[in-house]
Amino acid sequence: MSTRGWPNILITGTPGTGKTTHAAQLVEALQQHAETSSAPWQHLNVGDFVKEKGCHSGWNEEWQSWDVDEDKLLDELELVQGAGAKVLDWHTCDLFPERWIDLVVVLRCDHSQLWNRLEKRGYKLNKIQENNDAEIMEVVLNDARESYAEEIVVVLQSETPDQMEENVGRIIQWVTAWRENNAD
Ligand code: ADP
Ligand code: MN
Repeated sequence: MSTRGWPNILITGTPGTGKTTHAAQLVEALQQHAETSSAPWQHLNVGDFVKEKGCHSGWNEEWQSWDVDEDKLLDELELVQGAGAKVLDWHTCDLFPERWIDLVVVLRCDHSQLWNRLEKRGYKLNKIQENNDAEIMEVVLNDARESYAEEIVVVLQSETPDQMEENVGRIIQWVTAWRENNAD
């Protein structure tokens, strides 16, 4: 049994696999779905949160990203825990306490398609290469499997809009099942 009325869902994957797009569509769909619309669904883009709350030790010029202060991030995030109904969107998944997360969705994408997406985004070559390698080596998937119970980790392909729609539908099904099993 969970102490939350609604589950917290972590959407993770290599940058460019579709986390933010999925999280936004999922929250919108959850807000409209009859069985889930009463919950205070919130999309929490952790990268944006890090920037807004200053949970970092500065900008890393080489990697064009913030050096995350993990302790500060966890302290700040603790504040937003409670009711559940959070959709967390981040490429790192081994940082959150296990008890915070009810479902981990790992998005996957063909690496050449991922390369194109990151190029379009204007990433520098070293960053495209690093992320491309990470997708091939299944870094995020391995981290997810090491950090959470096997049965809460779900791997979904994110290469087409149809897949995205199907993925959102599957997660909504999962949320309604979670409610049936956990509601008092
Ligand atoms: P992330 O948040 O994981 O870095 P985004 O959600 O920003 O990824 O997606 C990166 C790019 O890839 C966006 O242009 C998005 O529209 C596209 N994209 C992501 N997932 C899909 C998909 N399943 N089908 C088609 N395009 C996608
Ligand atoms: Mn994103």
